[in-house]
Amino acid sequence: MTVLTVAEHRHGRLWDVSREAQTAGLELAAVTGDTVHTAVVGGAVERFADRLGCAGVETVHTVAGDEAFNHDVYTQVLTQLAESIDARVVLAPHSVTGLNYAPALSARLDWPVVPDAVALDGADGLTVTREVDGAWTTLAVDGGRAVVTVRPGEWPVTEAAGDTDVIPFTADIDDAAVRSTVTSEAAGALADLALEDADVVVAVGRGIGGEADLDLLFDLADAVGGTVAASGPPVKRGWLPADRQIGQSGATVAPDVYLAVGISGAAQHLAGMRESDTVVAINSDPTAPIFDVADYGVVADLFDVVPALTAALEE
Ligand SMILES: Cc1cc2nc3c(=O)[nH]c(=O)nc-3n(C[C@H](O)[C@H](O)[C@H](O)COP(=O)(O)OP(=O)(O)OC[C@H]3O[C@@H](n4cnc5c(N)ncnc54)[C@H](O)[C@@H]3O)c2cc1C
Repeated sequence: MTVLTVAEHRHGRLWDVSREAQTAGLELAAVTGDTVHTAVVGGAVERFADRLGCAGVETVHTVAGDEAFNHDVYTQVLTQLAESIDARVVLAPHSVTGLNYAPALSARLDWPVVPDAVALDGADGLTVTREVDGAWTTLAVDGGRAVVTVRPGEWPVTEAAGDTDVIPFTADIDDAAVRSTVTSEAAGALADLALEDADVVVAVGRGIGGEADLDLLFDLADAVGGTVAASGPPVKRGWLPADRQIGQSGATVAPDVYLAVGISGAAQHLAGMRESDTVVAINSDPTAPIFDVADYGVVADLFDVVPALTAALEE
């Protein structure tokens, strides 16, 4: 029998939880003797499959289709795929999309759904550990079959390797049962990449002066394939949403590259980014404390440097 993990992608990017779910599946299968398969549905499936191939995962099933998530399509595809490979456990990301299709999938397969898993075991039937009312709780799953959503960040990502079969899977989609379609999507510049998944974070501070010039940062983030974050003041002033704040009262990140633009480097900010591999600071004040933690510093007006950097990167 098999454990089927389901990849998560959005806006052309594969989310790390896809490869964390594979690790969860491989750990479970190491105990149960099951084989592990992965499904990737819609969008750039071939490209995603390259990154999902890894030691221990037997097959990545690519399902051609629209990039946009569709509840009814995912439910039909995953039901048919799970049945065709004799899956007994489906591991979906505990994400907005995973939580969307997991209950419907469990109803189709007639298995229980267990959300938000942080640990799995198969030594004595299937058990799933999750938080219930603030306490770690281990549940035994009757019959050993379940759709489980896995909490992001709980398992390490798998290391990409090329020894996994990539096989297209064609589902028999009942169009009459596809009751919703995505008609438009807000071009939310921040919807593209979760902070914790970003290899490059472009963080903006009070030095940007106002909301009107934020596009400069979004353009730079696009050019480097990163995402935009902020120090406290831009969030406090409502220029960017609260989930983008880095620091003591915000998120902690450790990307490959952290670009601090117009940020002074207060202790409360450094608390959220000092583990970054490489810090690049752009600030007009040569005495700004951010330069004490920066690997590379540019003492200049950000309004000169940022557009020039973006243009150079785009070339
Ligand atoms: C309890 C508590 C919790 C906090 N939590 C957080 C937190 O989680 N995250 C956080 O970031 N802060 C937090 N703060 C706030 C923190 O103390 C600082 O006030 C804040 O980090 C400063 O943000 P900043 O660097 O963007 O702004 P400033 O300190 O005002 O720095 C702006 C910088 O921009 C530079 N600059 C200006 N114009 C230009 C230009 N044209 N080109 C280039 N550079 C320019 C200036 O030289 C300056 O260094 C917290 C504070 C408290 C008391």
